[in-house]
Amino acid sequence: MMERRHKVKDSISSKLKSLEPYIFHQIAQAKKEALSSGVDLIDLGAGNPDLIPTEKLIESLREEALNPENHRHPVYEGIPELKAKIAEWFFQRFKVKLDPEYEILILGGAKEGLSLAPLAFLNPDDYALVPDPAYPVYKRSVILAGGKVETFPLVKENNWLPDLKKIKPKSKTKMIFLNYPNNPTGAIAPLDFFKKLVDFAHSNDIIICQDMAYSEITYDGLKSHSLMEIDNAKETSLEFYSFSKTYSLTGWRLGFVAGNKELINALTQVKVTYSSGVFHPVQRAGITALELSQEDLSDLIKTYQERRDILVKGLKKLGWDAEFPKGAIFVWAKMPKPSDSLPLCLGLIKKNGVIATPGTGLGKQGENYLRFSLTSSVDRIEEALRRIKGIKF
Ligand SMILES: *Cc1c(COP(=O)(O)O)cnc(C)c1O
Repeated sequence: MMERRHKVKDSISSKLKSLEPYIFHQIAQAKKEALSSGVDLIDLGAGNPDLIPTEKLIESLREEALNPENHRHPVYEGIPELKAKIAEWFFQRFKVKLDPEYEILILGGAKEGLSLAPLAFLNPDDYALVPDPAYPVYKRSVILAGGKVETFPLVKENNWLPDLKKIKPKSKTKMIFLNYPNNPTGAIAPLDFFKKLVDFAHSNDIIICQDMAYSEITYDGLKSHSLMEIDNAKETSLEFYSFSKTYSLTGWRLGFVAGNKELINALTQVKVTYSSGVFHPVQRAGITALELSQEDLSDLIKTYQERRDILVKGLKKLGWDAEFPKGAIFVWAKMPKPSDSLPLCLGLIKKNGVIATPGTGLGKQGENYLRFSLTSSVDRIEEALRRIKGIKF
């Protein structure tokens, strides 16, 4: 009998095949290998907070989990109590009113909303503008949605903000992704930039998807602004928020998107297809999180800021070009001498036991850069610096 075998490899979609390997997955593999060969690793790789959530949140989760009502299918768009609390928080924080019913959608993390947005807005071969460097999810989800990516550079000379005058969108451009406070560069966006951005979006008929995953993590007394503070921003924008980094809850999966009613409705249609709602006890704990005092948060900021200062000063001393980030939990550092960042990182894991993210994994502009996250203790960061000193360029 003739044997006909299905070649599984040929069945993988061309869209999936066209993606570059997910950098954090690649680094995680290298980490696994190093761990199994007994390397003492210092993890300054993914933005995965090492801090533990405050007791109040764990207590709230525990209590709500004991309620049998809370174990059924969650409400798709989020529980009204959390949405109302978010609207209240948003007004206190940014002096912007949101309609909790139509202008807020609860997400299983900001990543869920950001990655589903292209499915809601792109037709085949429509373009999305994506920053370089950036969180890789924007680009990958545009490609998986059948869209095309046009990148624009973020450079130090322009304070890591896009130069909007230089961006000439192709006719089929539907959306632009942005992320301030920025991963990886640590920049925050001033309000006058957001104003120009909204004008740019209106005059080009583009939807803005602004990633606020680090909205509350800013240093030196600075505060981030919401895009929604601009008068006519809501007509064309979505802003994605996360509880992950602010409250050290990455594993719980909680975030929300705020913005235009029609855009939120479109995103909801995609969400109900791809996932369900967030586990109610997690949403209820989210209410507790938004009720925490500023003091609860300032300890976290202080911890990251102390680590930031030690890491940046240490890297500078070793000849790296690094600035003090104004927000987020990363140091974006240019190497003392040009070097291909992926092999350098793989070697750094294997030989020196330090995990960092290769700049090129975040975009072409990341050439000769590494991204270090502030997710290890001061002692471990000091040890990492001693090890980084040993890199031979
Ligand atoms: C961590 C991170 C996210 C993911 O946030 P979740 O709420 O955990 O999904 C989104 N965007 C950026 C830039 C991040 O660094």
